[in-house]
Amino acid sequence: MKTYPLRIGELNALVVSDGGMPVTKEFFFANTPDHITHQFPAEFDAPLNFICISIDHKNILIDTGFGSECKDAGLLIQALNKHGISRYDIDEVILTHGHLDHIGGAVIKDKPAFPNATYYLHVEEWEMWAADKSSKEHSILSMLEDSITLIHKDMELYPGIRLFHTPGHTYGHLSVMVYSENQRLFIVSDLLNDPAALRHLSSHIGLEKSPEKGRQTRKAVLDFAEEQGILLFVCHYPFPGLGYIEKKDGVHQWTPLLT
Ligand SMILES: [Zn+2]
Repeated sequence: MKTYPLRIGELNALVVSDGGMPVTKEFFFANTPDHITHQFPAEFDAPLNFICISIDHKNILIDTGFGSECKDAGLLIQALNKHGISRYDIDEVILTHGHLDHIGGAVIKDKPAFPNATYYLHVEEWEMWAADKSSKEHSILSMLEDSITLIHKDMELYPGIRLFHTPGHTYGHLSVMVYSENQRLFIVSDLLNDPAALRHLSSHIGLEKSPEKGRQTRKAVLDFAEEQGILLFVCHYPFPGLGYIEKKDGVHQWTPLLT
């Protein structure tokens, strides 16, 4: 069970692995030329990194992992327990978007898995899944209805935690900026699939709702991260999903925090 604690200024953060997400190359690298993906096997387990931020004795979890929706994953709560954080200790859950690898762990036996938490979701994400009544995502989000606060615009949730609407992968996809003292961490969830695809910004994880908007958002976020030298956290990048964007010969590159 992989975990990685880090500090962001005065804040404590804990990266946990939820396990692995079995994917096909075609799904994980949609709209991607062969010369970028040829080193990947036809099927593999994509990383599933999630993060919990502790601020003023509050625990803020960003996404919940697969829960019981995937037999190879669902380790997030056990990984938090290992560091003394129980599911009852989570005060806020920010859902970056509604795909099952991010919300499957939000419920246990049809009830909120983090019973003392307020859950946050962008209003466009809620409406998107509300319109897809036969989906598993709709079913899970419905179980959270009494616990969810919908986000209508970019906002500061806490001093040091700011939510940004970053649409494309889904209509209501959220990213989260964490800042303390002079340090910043930008949590960009599923805007990115793998460092190998940074050379081809039209590459995306399957099920992307609006690939053109996704490409625009990816470019804006990567340019911003590179210019500002911000530490990024990416859900499906190699564990712990932390690193910096640099530019070489006009092309974005990933420099992992751990080498
Ligand atoms: Zn994902």
